[in-house]
Amino acid sequence: MKLNLIKDNIYYIDAPVNMGLIVNEQQEAILVDTGIDDSVARKVRRLVDENGFTLKWIIITHAHADHCGGAPYLVKNTGAKVYANALEKSILEHPILEPVYLFGGACPPQPLHNKFFLAPGVQVDGVLENGPHNVAGCELEIVDLAGHALGQIGVAAGGVLFCADAVIAPEILNKHGIPLNASIDRAVETFTLLEQRRDNYYLPAHGTLMEDIHMVVAANRRRIDDTVDYILSLLTCQRTAEELLATTCARFNVRINNLGQYYLMHLTVMAYLGHLLDQKQIATSYQDNRQYFSLTTAG
Ligand SMILES: [Zn+2]
Repeated sequence: MKLNLIKDNIYYIDAPVNMGLIVNEQQEAILVDTGIDDSVARKVRRLVDENGFTLKWIIITHAHADHCGGAPYLVKNTGAKVYANALEKSILEHPILEPVYLFGGACPPQPLHNKFFLAPGVQVDGVLENGPHNVAGCELEIVDLAGHALGQIGVAAGGVLFCADAVIAPEILNKHGIPLNASIDRAVETFTLLEQRRDNYYLPAHGTLMEDIHMVVAANRRRIDDTVDYILSLLTCQRTAEELLATTCARFNVRINNLGQYYLMHLTVMAYLGHLLDQKQIATSYQDNRQYFSLTTAG
């Protein structure tokens, strides 16, 4: 992990989850995301200190544990104030909600109580609406990047957009097979928004700094289109969500072997089914207490 200058007063920290750093004239810093745990946060703090900056503000793009788990350490050790989107604030302050929604709303079992799913809670000091903000003399824009998470935001400053998990690098896309999304409609709207933006640099949390995001957006869009087409091709006959999950994962080379991974894929497959139900391309039916999905034209 090191501090990399992007331009002017805008930096990023390369890590398993990249972080942004925006510094004002008084050398006070705004950190975008915090990494997963105290160990990452300790390194972030050291990098900020070594460069003579004072960490004053933290903006969390969304309440997934790998983006926010380091926040309590940084708040405790620097007194930084935390800002987030209103919806994500609820989860940041009640982190049990992440494994709860993964586990269908029920009390999550122990395998979902690890640092990848259950972050330590952090108090959010301020809610950021989408649009322009002046934070500590820095002109920021909070950009609605919903899709991967329902309240996901990006942070734009000085021609740099920190775009969280709105897109992932093509090589990571191939590794993940079916990227996690909570809303397919919103993810696709976010792709269109990213294609229309005119920032000089884009930094996804999982990937490298880019000057042109179009190819990466196209690869992410294609994967969603391919997944939709594949699920529709399966639904010429009626199938359960469980069958669709298994077959779709196999098609995109996903090998589920633990409970956490199962529920991440389950959430994503449900996002596709919700999208297709809302578009009335598919419908549900019920037999012997089983729920089936099939094409509306098939039945
Ligand atoms: Zn995420």
